[in-house]
Amino acid sequence: MYIKVAIPRPIDSLFDYEYDETELGTIQRGDLVQVPFGRSRVVACVMEVSEQKPNLPEKITLKKATSKIDSEFSITEDIFKLCKFGSEYYQYPIGEAFFVAVPPKPETFLKTRAEKKHEAPPFVKKLNEEQQAALDTIEAEVGKRSNTVFLLEGITGSGKTEVYIEYAKKILEQNKSVLILVPEIALTAQLKDRFEAALGHKIALWHSALADGLRQTQWRRVKKGEIKVVVGARSAVFAPFQNLGLMVVDEEHDQTYKQEERFRYQARDLAIYRARQLNIPIILGSATPSLETIQRVREGKYFQLHLKNRFSTRPLPEIKLVSLSDEALVFNEKVKTPFAVKAIEAMQGAIDRGEQVMVFLNRRGFSQFILCKDCGWIKKCENCSISMTHYQRKNELRCHVCGTKCPVPDNCETCHSHELTGMGSGTESLEDELRLLLRDAKILRLDRDQVTSQKRLEEVLNQFKNLEANVLIGTQMLVKGHDFPKVTCVVVVLADMLLKWPDFRASERALQTLVQVAGRAGRAELPGEVIIQGYDLEHPVLKILMGEESKEDFINNELELRQALHYPPFSRFVRYRFEANDVDLLKIKVNRMMDALRLELGKVAEERLMGPSEALLFRANQFYRFDVYYKAATLDELFSVSRRVKKMALIEEIDLTVDVDPYSS
Ligand SMILES: [Zn+2]
Ligand SMILES: [Zn+2]
Repeated sequence: MYIKVAIPRPIDSLFDYEYDETELGTIQRGDLVQVPFGRSRVVACVMEVSEQKPNLPEKITLKKATSKIDSEFSITEDIFKLCKFGSEYYQYPIGEAFFVAVPPKPETFLKTRAEKKHEAPPFVKKLNEEQQAALDTIEAEVGKRSNTVFLLEGITGSGKTEVYIEYAKKILEQNKSVLILVPEIALTAQLKDRFEAALGHKIALWHSALADGLRQTQWRRVKKGEIKVVVGARSAVFAPFQNLGLMVVDEEHDQTYKQEERFRYQARDLAIYRARQLNIPIILGSATPSLETIQRVREGKYFQLHLKNRFSTRPLPEIKLVSLSDEALVFNEKVKTPFAVKAIEAMQGAIDRGEQVMVFLNRRGFSQFILCKDCGWIKKCENCSISMTHYQRKNELRCHVCGTKCPVPDNCETCHSHELTGMGSGTESLEDELRLLLRDAKILRLDRDQVTSQKRLEEVLNQFKNLEANVLIGTQMLVKGHDFPKVTCVVVVLADMLLKWPDFRASERALQTLVQVAGRAGRAELPGEVIIQGYDLEHPVLKILMGEESKEDFINNELELRQALHYPPFSRFVRYRFEANDVDLLKIKVNRMMDALRLELGKVAEERLMGPSEALLFRANQFYRFDVYYKAATLDELFSVSRRVKKMALIEEIDLTVDVDPYSS
């Protein structure tokens, strides 16, 4: 018998082996086998089984598979399809794609520890009318079409989770399983107790930071059906359920669903694919749904449900916009970050009352802007509608997507003010600056540089929760649902950094982030205030936040713009990133490839191929990076252009990373 296998190496092709049925038993696709590969042995996934000897050049003798891994670890048909689709769509080597779905070291067999059955009676919380109506609608729609995709839209505190829980109970009663995806690992632990109490079922937490042994045990118990509910981060989309009845993607808009390295998949999108394959319902929950999802609702592909009332009794925080152009600013030579006196007073007030403060800043400091201090205007690229980045050394503005350049303007194009200023750096020093400006501040910082491990993240959060500090400075990480009852003051240092981030999703993301940031202030009995500092307070996103403009208009405008410029959800957006340590040679080669590609594509290239341009983070670890973007109209176009680019990079011997639907710059 003969098999084709996928090897966990960065190779796109499959490999042929022979196997002896009397020695290894029957082999099926999805089984794991050990095969000799090069000088070592590797565990490989069987893709095809055949009685026919493959057509190979005569010199090549087929090697034999040496053993079969216990079939407990075999990849189920459903996950097999998911990985295959993921590998094609995200342009990731097939063997490596499969091995995200397999527990670590499957060749070392572990015994499953017997665990006590833990089936507490479910904790019953009565749904309000609106929630009950949503639940009834879900049941009715699933009755009509079993693989309905639902968008459950509801503000923070409207009780989306209770709706998931009640519907999950019904699925569990049918003896099927439930998979719940949440955006941040730190959140899964918090949700575990809540779900266990509510469902009366043992729940497995699933994320990449679990120890190998535990991961393996859980993997097998989920596959056997001993665990029926998994709450997990993005990798849980590959959990090997055999009888899945429902998937939930909470905070579906969250960008952490996109894996940003190696296998660059979008877990929400793969979950939707998996639900469709299995013909089961999926619920996407959000207070601020992604435009991709909204567009699918408008096309009639997804079914939208609204929760408009607040379920919890927590008071809404008061949001205050503070203009950095008009308000008195703190004056201190050592402080570069603009702070309104008002904002510092509010923080000091909270500290003096023994309460806590959160200070939010946008993560990446490597984009520089030139901004009008009077009205917040910033130069945008005419082709891409993306904020232009300031390159200090040449003192020019550039679009990091298409590469368009222009000189730094002398005055603002909107209000003609000459008060233009550079922005973007200096956030690293925020901690020191706040120490100077605030009395009795005990400050903790939470960002990607500081928090390198899951353990460290939990440590920082616990310290803050235990009131060991009264100020927490952080990035996007701190807006994700952590509950800190003593936080009464939240400060957004510079909203312009969010609103004008050089990305076509900047406005959408700013809205999502600010809504979440606002949700952090004022828990339990203490009312909270949210202070948003910025230069451009007329921005539509801030108007929506203040309830002065409708979200509907904003969404319509955004979608119109995206359609006109061929951005998602109206195209498949892909980034080709080329890297090398010799910058001059890299530039020549990338230009050569793109000239050739432009010629091949003809007219289509004008609207859909952009670049090459220097990556926002142009130089990293001695390597230089150039980006090229393509907006494909169809899947076929995405695949054919990607194949072409990959081939060119191979010939030019340049490192290439393909990122389909990229979320970061
Ligand atoms: Zn551009
Ligand atoms: Zn201006």
